Amino acid sequence: MRFDIMTLFPELVSTVLSESIIGRAQKAGVIEVHAHNIRDYSKDKHRRVDDTPYGGGMGMLMSPVPIYDCFSAITAPEVNECTRRHVIYMSPRGQVLTQKKAKELAANYDNIVILCGHYEGIDQRVIDEIVDEEISIGDYVLTGGEIPACILVDCVSRMIDGVLSAPDCYENESIASGLLEYPQYTRPYEFHGKKVPDVLLSGHHANIAKWRYEQSLIITAEKRPDLLKDK
Ligand code: SAM
Repeated sequence: MRFDIMTLFPELVSTVLSESIIGRAQKAGVIEVHAHNIRDYSKDKHRRVDDTPYGGGMGMLMSPVPIYDCFSAITAPEVNECTRRHVIYMSPRGQVLTQKKAKELAANYDNIVILCGHYEGIDQRVIDEIVDEEISIGDYVLTGGEIPACILVDCVSRMIDGVLSAPDCYENESIASGLLEYPQYTRPYEFHGKKVPDVLLSGHHANIAKWRYEQSLIITAEKRPDLLKDK
């Protein structure tokens, strides 16, 4: 999977995505992340990429031309051979990101191009021209699309073969499994007077699985009863 991120702050996304599991997946060549500076495509001598909104109102809007020129350059066949491309604008107006959506993106595309807004947002005409879908990371507003873009890349990448050690790593987790995860424990056996539940030391796999399932149900009923509606 190749991710191309169009942003005014390429170092922000490159830094976040160069660490830990996502950084290692890039080094191993399992995923590619390219951050592109929209400002490099500004024709203004001061490299401006924003302007005041027609009709008045607060703040500045990102101009369509540098975004379109950036998009055209990074998707030209001579620099990007991917054929199953999907263009996403990170936006509070979009559908809220879910594990299901991330799984669909991982399965259906080989190139996800992500447009990050800033200021008051982006001129609608370029959104209409290049964007396939708007995705939000939650019902709140941030200053820019860079953190949402990093969240999307992380969430989708975990479901690309070779990023985690096995599909079990993400299929049996909270949300993906349909429930929230059961409590987990590691050494030491006793911590601040609290011991690890006996069943986990029993070596009895069926009992351990049964205990974990029951705990998942209890925790889901407490914290996210809405998830149990379809059970
Ligand atoms: N004026 C816009 C509105 O009311 O919809 C909000 C603009 S916001 C201050 C600037 C940029 O941050 C947006 O263009 C978008 O790229 C990003 N952004 C803010 N909140 C977001 C969210 N919840 N999910 C995804 N992107 C978000």
